[in-house]
Amino acid sequence: MESQNSTVSQRLSRRRTVRILLLAGIALVFIASVRCFIVSSSLAATPDDLARAKRLKTAIKKLEPIHETIRKTKRGDWLETHYEPGQTFQRYLNSKPVRPIGVRNVIYIQPLGEFTKPERKAVLLSAEFMGLYFNTKVVIRKDLPLKVIPAAARRVHPKWKVKQILSTYVLDKMLYPRLPKDAAAYIAFTASDLWPGQGWNFVFGQASLRKRVGVWSVHRNGEPDKSPADFRLFLLRTLKTATHETGHMFTMLHCTAYECNMCGSNHRQESDSRPIALGPQCLAKVCWATRIDPIKRFEKLYLFCVKTGLKPEARFYAISIVTLGGKLPTTQPAPKASARINR
Ligand SMILES: [Zn+2]
Ligand SMILES: [Zn+2]
Repeated sequence: MESQNSTVSQRLSRRRTVRILLLAGIALVFIASVRCFIVSSSLAATPDDLARAKRLKTAIKKLEPIHETIRKTKRGDWLETHYEPGQTFQRYLNSKPVRPIGVRNVIYIQPLGEFTKPERKAVLLSAEFMGLYFNTKVVIRKDLPLKVIPAAARRVHPKWKVKQILSTYVLDKMLYPRLPKDAAAYIAFTASDLWPGQGWNFVFGQASLRKRVGVWSVHRNGEPDKSPADFRLFLLRTLKTATHETGHMFTMLHCTAYECNMCGSNHRQESDSRPIALGPQCLAKVCWATRIDPIKRFEKLYLFCVKTGLKPEARFYAISIVTLGGKLPTTQPAPKASARINR
């Protein structure tokens, strides 16, 4: 989760934290109590899952040395203003998490409104990346125009004069009625700015865990048409938000152990400083939830990062592959396993 660095945004962040955590709780209770009557994605662990968990605990140990433990909290950072319980791999397993497997096994992406050419390119790349990150099929749905949002759910920000759309309307009235039966998550991307209701300035994204819907805005991710470097920054920010928030939808809480994509961020500088890679505990959660071998996942993400010019990220995935005893899927020389990424 991310928010702007102001009093209002901190209130928003707090509220959003509560909402995410509360909704996570509600989702689990809901699933536990009605699982006999609905198709639930919170499937019971199979013997294969138990064996995978054991293997992943070994992988965690191997990967720990290449990851930085979470840095000391600075003034204004997320952890200075928010209590986070943290979530080890074991706690995650115990929570019977929602997983993108079984009948609900597709991530649907819903483009909403107009995009510039580079913005659309970043959204399409983000959809591809989400499929690799979560080892899940991704389907991009036909664009919806902004006119599906009624005047009552739009505004011009009173001070900034920026056009905004109401994120809660997008979740509850636009996405939820269109939710496909096999959706593990149904996520709208928009270039419009979002605000979550009265009293708030803006929000980068918002998700309803119970309803499996989310909306992320690329509006504040930079200027992707300015230069190739600006495009890469825009893309990286979009990828981070998309995967961080989708992680929440699959029952992952904020990370408090490592510098990790699942750490909470209170402001742009903080989120920019966080890696796209998951720390060892969070990585194990995703690999267990989506039944993928970590080396196979790293290989796919490595190739994606090479293709898109995300060099530090590609390098870290390369180091991760080598650390687990894998080989790089290219002819490039392998980095030393003991090397640490320079962020
Ligand atoms: Zn978050
Ligand atoms: Zn983590």
